[in-house]
Formats: sequence, structure tokens, C-alpha cells
Amino acid sequence: MEKAFFEGYEIGCAATTRGKVADYIPELAKSDPKAFGLCMLDATGEPLTFGEADTRFSIQSICKVIILAAALKLRGFDETFSHVMMEPSGDAFNSILKLDTRSNLPFNPMINAGAIETASLLLPELSFEDMLDYARMLCLDPTISLNEAVYNSEAQTGYRNRAIAYLLKSKGVMSADPERTLNLYFRLCSLAVSARSLAGLGLVLANDGVHPFNGKTLIAPEHVRTIQSIMFTCGMYDYSGKYSVKVGVPSKSGVGGGIVCAAKGPMGIGLYGPALDAFGNSSGAVKAMVHISQALGLHVFSY
Ligand code: GLU
Repeated sequence: MEKAFFEGYEIGCAATTRGKVADYIPELAKSDPKAFGLCMLDATGEPLTFGEADTRFSIQSICKVIILAAALKLRGFDETFSHVMMEPSGDAFNSILKLDTRSNLPFNPMINAGAIETASLLLPELSFEDMLDYARMLCLDPTISLNEAVYNSEAQTGYRNRAIAYLLKSKGVMSADPERTLNLYFRLCSLAVSARSLAGLGLVLANDGVHPFNGKTLIAPEHVRTIQSIMFTCGMYDYSGKYSVKVGVPSKSGVGGGIVCAAKGPMGIGLYGPALDAFGNSSGAVKAMVHISQALGLHVFSY
């Protein structure tokens, strides 16, 4: 098993040269394109780490998984999915097109429109601090904090996300205040995590929502199934279909370069490589996961 992860790490390192760091959020442009690391955590509690497994980077879109878990817990399945659908959009993560022309509800909670709407459901009951505590608990990492520089950068330049929130408000889909919603969303995207923290989140999901070391239920099992299904179909931007065929592990990526994977075992795999491919996924992390999944038979449909 260690060999498969080491080979995946080497393949991932080599593939970093094929990507480019995100620069539409100015602060992200400062990331080192050659950085690469991964962490695997299973119920033994002994993580397997390679490279930059402890480098902090912003969680970005991976917070959408945490936002969905919180909304399901607070509002339940029916109310949550009366605000957002669960269909792959086939469009870019920040697209506004179908939201305006095809449907009032965002296609799914893993694209920006869906995550912003889902975040609005957390207000007014949950504050950013509540969500920070929740993220720390789900990632098994009490040291997660807010990266203020990324937050400011994103809040100052997030015009498209503002447009999405105001469009949702104008359609009467969003009840909460759009500015308060955006503030919460931008802060949650700016949480500083590591590949190790993402491995923790992946393990909790893969372990049916149960804390792997103290047996406490952190996410209800029926919600874990919903979250993992949506990760599987919508988690990797408009590469989600091909990724599911080639890797077959419920995963979610973010433009900060992270990927969280909830794998059989149960195993959580967290990867970090800020050089992104054309879809916005870490080029190194995708290549690493193709190898690791094939080498270890992790595809959910391989028996
Ligand atoms: N904060 C980013 C945005 O809203 C998240 C995008 C992503 O990671 O896909 O544009």
C-alpha cells in the first residue's frame, strides 16, 4: 500500500509542471506551482505522508462539502434540496448561465451558485465561528484557522460570486441577506487547511460520518450518503464524469490546489498541488489519484 502512495506522489510531483496556479483570486497566485504533497489516514491513526502534507493552503471549494453537511444537519434533506438541486451542471464552477436561463435553483451544492445558496441556509443560526469549529471537528484538525489575506483578496475581487448571490436573491430563491451570505462563504473558502486535514475529512466521510477514533457520529449516515453521492457526480468541476470513471472515489477539489477523497478501507486521502489543469483541478493530485485508485482497487465499482 505504501508503494502505491509513494508512486502516486512521484507521478503527482512530475505532473505539477503541466498546470498553472489560480490567479483570479490575487492571493492564490502567490502559491508555489511545484508544491505537492499527500496524506492518507485510516483507522489505525498512523498517517502516511509524502511531500508537503502539512503546508497550509486555502480550502476553497472543498468547504462546499462542509457547508452541505451543516445545512443537512440544520435544515434537513427536504428543506436543503428545496433550495438547490442535485444534478451535475456540466458547466464551470462559477457559471451563471443556466441559473438565469434554465432553472431558478442552482444545479448542485458543489458549484458556486449552489454553495452560496446552501451557505445562506446556515444563517442566522450559525456564525462563521460555529462553522470554523465544525470544520475543525470534521477535518480532525483543531488548528484550522482563517487565512485573512485570502479572505480579503476574495472579498475584494469576488464580483462574479456577488452577481450569483444577488441573482439568487432577485429570483426569491435566497431568503438570507446576500452580503452576509457572501461574507460567510468567502470566509469558509479561506480556511487554511493541509493535505493532512483533508485526509481527516475524507476519513470521517469514508467511515460513514463516524469519528474514527472516538466512535462519535459527526455526520448522520444518511447525510454522508447524500454528500458522497454529490461529490461523486459533481465534485471535480466539469471533469467530474471522467474522474468518476477513471478514479471512482468520491472527491472534491478546490482552486487552492486541494483534493479530499473518501476511499474504501475506510481511508481518507488529502492531496495538495496548487498547479491546476484546465478544469481547475490540481493536475498533480488528479494524476496521483488515477494511479493510487488503480493500484489499490479503490474504484467504488471494483469489487
Ligand atoms: N472561493 C472560490 C470562488 O468562489 C472557490 C472556487 C473553487 O475552489 O472552485 O470562486
